[in-house]
Amino acid sequence: MPGLEDLYREIILDHYKNPRNQGTLETPPAVMEQGYNPLCGDEVKIYLLVEDDMVKDIKIDGQGCSISRSSASLMSNAVKGKSLKDVYKAIRTFKKMMALDEDGHEDEETIEPINEYTVGELIALQGVVKFPVRIKCATLPWNTLSQALEDATNNS
Ligand code: ZN
Repeated sequence: MPGLEDLYREIILDHYKNPRNQGTLETPPAVMEQGYNPLCGDEVKIYLLVEDDMVKDIKIDGQGCSISRSSASLMSNAVKGKSLKDVYKAIRTFKKMMALDEDGHEDEETIEPINEYTVGELIALQGVVKFPVRIKCATLPWNTLSQALEDATNNS
């Protein structure tokens, strides 16, 4: 279905050209983590404000290729305003989409089927799996988010 792939490509280009949630947050109360992907030169800074077990706000700063930038933008949309439980679920779902089973203890029950209805625009990133060299670009913002979540939850 070339039509579907075109749509995914459009979503990625849209988030690259018009990145969502760009900027910075005051630290503290927000935490900041940065990630770097030496293979591509992608740099990402994630500002995260966690309150009441929710991602109250998230801002993205940095520079990189279209994949890393659009992945960061899509991620920010997917987690902003969500409960930490949903955010961790989104991270697991994304890793599953990238065919990464880092911990090997996935609880399949907690992961919804991956399609455009359950993961929304994030589905557009699934095409990245076909380009292994780009997977690190796509995962960079998500790994950096995990670090920021750790900082935020340790502080509170
Ligand atoms: Zn990249």
